[in-house]
Amino acid sequence: MKVVNRQSIVIVKGEGTRVWDDEGKDYLDFTAGWAVNNIGHANPAITAAIQAQAGQLLQTSNQFFTIPQLELAELLVENSCMEKVFFCNSGAEANEGAIKLIRKWGKINKNGPGEIITAYKSFHGRTMNMVAATAQPKYQEAWAPIPTGFTHVDFDDITQIKNATNENTVAVMLEPVQSEGGVNIPSSDYLSNVRSWCDENNLLLIFDEVSTGLGRLGELFGYQLFDVEPDVLTLAKGLGGGVPIGAFLCNQRANVLEPGDHGSTFGGNALTCAASEASTRFIIEEDVPGNSRNVGKYMKDQLENLRMKHEIISDVRGIGCLVGVEFSADIAGKLLSACNDNGLLLNVTATNIVRWMPPLTVTKEEVDEAIEKFDKALDIAKV
Ligand SMILES: *Cc1c(COP(=O)(O)O)cnc(C)c1O
Repeated sequence: MKVVNRQSIVIVKGEGTRVWDDEGKDYLDFTAGWAVNNIGHANPAITAAIQAQAGQLLQTSNQFFTIPQLELAELLVENSCMEKVFFCNSGAEANEGAIKLIRKWGKINKNGPGEIITAYKSFHGRTMNMVAATAQPKYQEAWAPIPTGFTHVDFDDITQIKNATNENTVAVMLEPVQSEGGVNIPSSDYLSNVRSWCDENNLLLIFDEVSTGLGRLGELFGYQLFDVEPDVLTLAKGLGGGVPIGAFLCNQRANVLEPGDHGSTFGGNALTCAASEASTRFIIEEDVPGNSRNVGKYMKDQLENLRMKHEIISDVRGIGCLVGVEFSADIAGKLLSACNDNGLLLNVTATNIVRWMPPLTVTKEEVDEAIEKFDKALDIAKV
């Protein structure tokens, strides 16, 4: 089914920041599988873990324990402010589970309210509830009736959250930095103000870090950058480094799920957990967030320099290896084609915004090469 405007490139292999198509042409991959390949393509750490686990055990049901699942859970809990983990297979699924947890918490602690405040320009996934949570008309219009239980406010405006809170509100759900919605960074005190508001009104705070987690913003988790701890955290994308895995985590306060409340057949299976554990351990032990921070800053500075040269660039914004470039005209489609021709893969979030999100192991030399390709593509696309 043609649900995405695919570019006519067939990718057959990758290594680090680079991929090759079926004709042998190579590209710098600054899409990283949509912020998934955080430690690069074909990273030997992940390959070895998959090979070893594949010869041992792929899957048992969650009726039993497996060692990779326990090791991954331990690694995540030891390195975050969270206490408990549930493993699933994608970001939308992680958010769905988190919503169930929040609703149950509301029944126990607040006598039933279940409404969740989310932000305009957010992105939380494609299932029906996540379509309702994702406050962007283009993701909702075709799918009515939309599930209820979500109220929308402008991002980075604490007053709107205060005004939207009523006796039915149970939680606030935000991305620390909005990614798909155009790389929107909140003011430095926004998330701490949201945290205080949630504490004062006995609400849960949930951070969707499906995109920002695992080093993307230059810290292992985005919440660390803002020094604000959520009650519930969702992860996917970079968690597996390329295998499909998602998770929602919670602190002790929000730990309300009991046997029978939730489940998943494939969630947390031995193979994906082994790959994810290897990827996450690599991220922590090799200080991949540090590289994301340093090279990401360099990347943003180089894009800022290009803005001096190309007036059509109206804004460059980002943190770590998540940088958005906005244009004063709708050239993103044309620019993407020109970049493809030059051997640089980028992602478009709107007709006038492209996202730079390379693997977090990217080097300055690779950024230089990408900037040169982008510069030439801009010359072609802007006329
Ligand atoms: C991609 C994304 C999702 C959805 O993840 P899937 O694995 O595609 O279901 C949810 N939230 C955020 C912030 C995302 O970037």
